[in-house]
Amino acid sequence: MDYDKIWQSVLGELELSISKASFTTWFKNTTILEISDENVLIAVPNGFTKRWLEDRYYKNILEGLKNVLKNDQIKTLNFKISHHNPVIKEKKPISLKTSDLTKKTNKDNQNNFSSQSSEINSPGFILNPQYKFENFITGKQNELAKAASMAVAKNPGRVYNPLFLYGDVGLGKTHLMHSIGNYIKEKHPEKKLIYISSENFTNDYVKSIRSGNIDNFKKKYREIDILLVDDIQFMKGQERTQEEFFHTFNALYQTKKQIVISSDRPPKSLPSIEERLTSRFESGMIADIGSPDLETRVAILQSKIEEKKINLEISEEAISVIANIARHNVRELEGALNRVVAIHQLNNQNISIDSIKEILGNLKEKNNPPNNKKIIKTVAEYFDVPEEKIIGSCRKKELVFPRQICMYLMRTELNHSYPNIGQEIGGRDHTTAIHGFNKIEEEIKTNEKIKNDIEMIKQRLYN
Ligand code: ADP
Ligand code: MG
Repeated sequence: MDYDKIWQSVLGELELSISKASFTTWFKNTTILEISDENVLIAVPNGFTKRWLEDRYYKNILEGLKNVLKNDQIKTLNFKISHHNPVIKEKKPISLKTSDLTKKTNKDNQNNFSSQSSEINSPGFILNPQYKFENFITGKQNELAKAASMAVAKNPGRVYNPLFLYGDVGLGKTHLMHSIGNYIKEKHPEKKLIYISSENFTNDYVKSIRSGNIDNFKKKYREIDILLVDDIQFMKGQERTQEEFFHTFNALYQTKKQIVISSDRPPKSLPSIEERLTSRFESGMIADIGSPDLETRVAILQSKIEEKKINLEISEEAISVIANIARHNVRELEGALNRVVAIHQLNNQNISIDSIKEILGNLKEKNNPPNNKKIIKTVAEYFDVPEEKIIGSCRKKELVFPRQICMYLMRTELNHSYPNIGQEIGGRDHTTAIHGFNKIEEEIKTNEKIKNDIEMIKQRLYN
């Protein structure tokens, strides 16, 4: 029997039912080692993958094997850690999710650092000791990111390199990066680690050039064991910084040092980061973080209430009211809780549902549903082009494409008529709107990047 062929067919089936990012992550470097009467032995590259496949994909794999082998005798699977016979080589992983336009600056990542913040190894790289794995609440939307982060923290440089985390603002990227840092700092204090935002990396680089200390800079970033770079989307347009970062990346990568990067969008959708960098980012593991569902939001609130030792009574109903108003990201959720608690404490009153609604009322209004204007604004910001050019008459490719996306979204999200859409977008004819819509609809079928872009824009639209 040709195990390779069998496994490829099984993977072909699995690929259809599993998200692409998960698929690439979990089935990379797996293969069949042995098929006996009732059992199939599968090789996996590490213990982490082994556990994950056992827990999550056991059934899918078993079903796939039964189908391909046309054999119902197969009853069990075993997984063995083995470093041989990689079957799927790095396919470009792509996964979907999130983003926001708020131009968050580096301050955002550090603004709630407590006074107990500690430094590691080098002054200026501060880890927030409160950001730990233990208090990172998991739901469907972030479990992959958390699991991958933990795997990396436990085995830096060995499992996934680089680890690329992406998701909308306020969903826990920085929390996870600090958790990795804090974990390593505790378990392996001898390891040298740098956590830095891409903006500070840029600043540091520029400063070192100005002062003629570039060798020091190189040494500083290349002689470490772990590099955590937060918010890579801000490293844009700075060619020399990107060049330097590229070399830093390679130096670390080649010596099997761990690199973790966070971003507000997937690598391919980073418009101003050079391709040689984004393709490096894609070569490891990509994990997305989406907006938490209600259950997760409630769990996060409960954990924050415990953590903050809030001495007010907050009923379950009250918690779920807060969780239902602050829906989009964890930062907002935490902010809402803080406001409710602060105002009640100030007035020395018990928390009531009515008062929560009153306090958080304007939060609800802020999350207004999309309309034409919001679509144009969101798309323009996403592609970094002026709004007026989207509705303008210029036919340059970098404008036509976002324009067509606006048409597409006005149709899919608002159900507007084509004449109406044409009208909204610079008084165009309805046939132009139809053409725009069709164009994007076709692209989405075959172009993973565009599909991703649309997904991210939608997230922003509803955020
Ligand atoms: P990002 O870097 O993605 O913008 P942060 O990591 O700064 O988001 O998270 C914003 C806030 O929400 C932080 O206070 C963080 O502790 C909290 N937070 C985010 N996700 C979780 C989670 N899953 N569990 C607990 N707290 C979370
Ligand atoms: Mg952050």
